[in-house]
Amino acid sequence: MNIVMMGAQGTGKGTVAGILKQKLNIPHISTGDIFRKNIQEETELGKLATQYIDKGQLVPDEVTNAMVKSRINELDCENGFILDGYPRNIAQAEELDKMLEEKNKKVDYAINLTLEMEEIMSRIINRRICSNSECKEIYNLVSKPTKAPGICDKCGSEIVQRVDDSDSEAVKKRLDTYFSQTAPLIDFYNKKGVVYKVESNKPPKDLAEGIIEFLK
Ligand code: AMP
Repeated sequence: MNIVMMGAQGTGKGTVAGILKQKLNIPHISTGDIFRKNIQEETELGKLATQYIDKGQLVPDEVTNAMVKSRINELDCENGFILDGYPRNIAQAEELDKMLEEKNKKVDYAINLTLEMEEIMSRIINRRICSNSECKEIYNLVSKPTKAPGICDKCGSEIVQRVDDSDSEAVKKRLDTYFSQTAPLIDFYNKKGVVYKVESNKPPKDLAEGIIEFLK
């Protein structure tokens, strides 16, 4: 089953996808996480991506599409995957369709997480992530704090704020880009009849359970 997670920054796509991954036993592929890992490891891709990410801009489509194509062709994606953060515009969505058509597959579901703008801002400002790229647990200073201040509950690494979450210009730019380029994808997937809308006003575990029920 091939799933794409839709929704603005801070709606909980990553957290919900992390739970769905366990329940459905298919990989969770976050393009943002792959870029951040490359930035941490100072690879060529990371050096290129950081110039865009730090400013809240999208990494060019050719780069992102190639990265996703190579990832979804890996063996663990045979039975499906959950894409989080991709596609981000119509051109990427069309490219994804092509990649899948080559394998006689398609996007089966687009899960659209929605949230009030005020709550989106609060979640972005309070979001913290584990600095260990193998763990990447997501926290919130208010609704999901770590047990020990600044230390990941799961792996004991330091938790940090994303560079693009700490810069108000970058946050604004990302939200502008979401509403101008990414939100039109809801229509794109609506026309295919694959959208499932979920109000993101419950704990992620409950949201994931509701989604699993729907998928059944
Ligand atoms: P995210 O973790 O999904 O919020 O992504 C963090 C940043 O990575 C974004 O603001 C973009 O700069 C970049 N990025 C992630 N996914 C994509 C994508 N599909 N296309 C272009 N840039 C992306």
